[in-house]
Amino acid sequence: MTRPGSAAWSSGEALPIQVRQVTKTYGRVVALDHVDLDVRSGEFLTLLGPSGSGKTTLLMVLAGFVRPDRGSVRFGEQEVIRLAPHRRGVGMVFQSYALFPHLSVAENIAFPLKLRGVARSEAMRRAEEALALVQLPGLGGRSVAALSGGQRQRVALARAIVFEPRILLMDEPLSALDKQLREHMQIELRRLHDRLGITTVCVTHDQREALTMSDRIAVIDHGRIVQLDEPRRVYDHPATRFVAEFVGESAFLPVRRSGEAYYLGETPLRLDGQAVPEGADLLMVRPERLRLLAEGEAADGTVIAGAVREIVYQGDSVLVQVALAGGQAVAARIGSAHGAMRALPAVGDAVRLALAPQDACLLRDDAA
Ligand code: ADP
Ligand code: MG
Repeated sequence: MTRPGSAAWSSGEALPIQVRQVTKTYGRVVALDHVDLDVRSGEFLTLLGPSGSGKTTLLMVLAGFVRPDRGSVRFGEQEVIRLAPHRRGVGMVFQSYALFPHLSVAENIAFPLKLRGVARSEAMRRAEEALALVQLPGLGGRSVAALSGGQRQRVALARAIVFEPRILLMDEPLSALDKQLREHMQIELRRLHDRLGITTVCVTHDQREALTMSDRIAVIDHGRIVQLDEPRRVYDHPATRFVAEFVGESAFLPVRRSGEAYYLGETPLRLDGQAVPEGADLLMVRPERLRLLAEGEAADGTVIAGAVREIVYQGDSVLVQVALAGGQAVAARIGSAHGAMRALPAVGDAVRLALAPQDACLLRDDAA
């Protein structure tokens, strides 16, 4: 697998991952429940779910640190379930970085090469190359203890990719960083992935992080994958209420079906031929998809009428809370540009909100 002297990180070796019927229990806890998952070759796939949903367990099954009770894992054509972690060709980034504090930056990065019998001079050369890739050129001689959190995270990443793994696994790699650095690193991780072309599986509980970085997102709940889709699809067409709530803000308004039409109270919904799941009984309304209509303004879409209950200024936007006649509430997120601020209604005003047909998503209530 190690090819000394070869051009670094050829993307030709990226492998697809096939997970079939993987189950893992700890006593009575079912951490993974008959999981099927296909990761495409060269894809950036994120496992997204709440704490305890089974994300780390699934990643550890891929890495070889956890042996499932049953099921199969293939990298390309190869069944790897009985293969030790170091023989799987996977690079791994842990939440805690797990760097060796007594080794220099370069020695940390070169460690996987040393394990694989690469000569020291070659290993050091490749460690420097990996450092440049993670935007830390020339820091090889430093002590790990002297690095900031963001720099340590990059060193851990460099160590994970230095031996040209066919698969890169990351468990909440950015969770120890503060918000600004985390958002910056999300974009950097994505860029690095695009340059290397390594099949990547990343775990996070942060929906925005998943939406920012991924080709596809697998939403996991109670050890089951409940939706696997592209970010836009997950956000705009969540398969269940759980997914809808987990990936963003939304109100859920009960709808009534009559023949082929759906009604919100007495208002017919404008769906323009969108597919509606069987048994759908809720309209998902994301705040930023609502438009505040000016007086007398006609709307293309469903019009929701109510009275303003509260206005919350949040800097980049304004949240307008609206009470509907039926007793429910929806929030509309309005941009905070000067013109929009001037046109804001006051608390108590009657308002109409427009929801474009393409932004109307019906789903079935699975939270009951
Ligand atoms: P996540 O990474 O999504 O937070 P985990 O995969 O760590 O979730 O855990 C899934 C479930 O399995 C949790 O209920 C957790 O308590 C349990 N679990 C994980 N590892 C072990 C273990 N080594 N022993 C016992 N229970 C475990
Ligand atoms: Mg975890």
